Amino acid sequence: MENMIQRMDDITAGMVAVQGICFDANSSFIKGAARGPMGIREALFCGSANLCAESGFDLGETSRWRDFGDIRPASGPDMLAQVEDRVWQLLQHDARVLCLGGDHSITVPILRAYGRKYPGLNILHLDAHPDLYDELKGNRYSHACPFARIMEEKLAGRLVQVGIRTLNRHQRSQVRRFGVEVVEMSAWHSQCLPIFKGPVYLSLDLDVLDPAFAPGVSHHEPGGLSTRAVIGLIQQLAAPVVGADIVEFNPERDLFGITAMAAAKLLKETVALMAVQGDQAVR
Ligand code: MN
Ligand code: MN
Repeated sequence: MENMIQRMDDITAGMVAVQGICFDANSSFIKGAARGPMGIREALFCGSANLCAESGFDLGETSRWRDFGDIRPASGPDMLAQVEDRVWQLLQHDARVLCLGGDHSITVPILRAYGRKYPGLNILHLDAHPDLYDELKGNRYSHACPFARIMEEKLAGRLVQVGIRTLNRHQRSQVRRFGVEVVEMSAWHSQCLPIFKGPVYLSLDLDVLDPAFAPGVSHHEPGGLSTRAVIGLIQQLAAPVVGADIVEFNPERDLFGITAMAAAKLLKETVALMAVQGDQAVR
């Protein structure tokens, strides 16, 4: 911990801080996402691909991002406090934080920290699922519920969800209740991304991808986006992306490392976008 604080002192404004969060206790179906962060790093550094994003920004040749390792939060309220504290520490050093999950429940404490620095933050949420349940199996912090908590706590100025293909009656009523803007998969086309005014937080649940592109997730929901389409969405973002998460990679469900490499690719594109924007913002 002491070591971590010293390293945090080296953060320069606008730098991207990658933070693993090894946590899957709020997964409702099967566990395994707690091993997501190490699986993504293994793929990133496996040697089969270079570290260059498509823009030419090379993660191997820059000090504009840094990996802060993993935290393994305890369950229950302790998880919420530990994740919020860590993200808040990084934000106080003016980092742009990219968290690697872990199940999607971690986005609640991440956004509690963000809410202290960025009131009215725009959220772009890519997912097969709206994650708007009031509760699931008695758990209000299930990974099926984070965006209900986030909207109740008014942590989002605007919540835009893309790739959704599982809206039932309850979640449709939650969409209306919270004023969520949903681009359902059935209506999706590549030009339909809304324009954001002000900073954006990107929350990327890997099950937004079709299971053919990303089998290593706990909930297979066919009919999703291609890896190419998600890369395109990230590259199109013109508003400042001040934070992001990549969640729900479950290595136990992966085949031939396909999902791990997809997650590593999306990490490269996201770090590149955030680092270039962060650099421009401080110049
Ligand atoms: Mn999902
Ligand atoms: Mn989700």
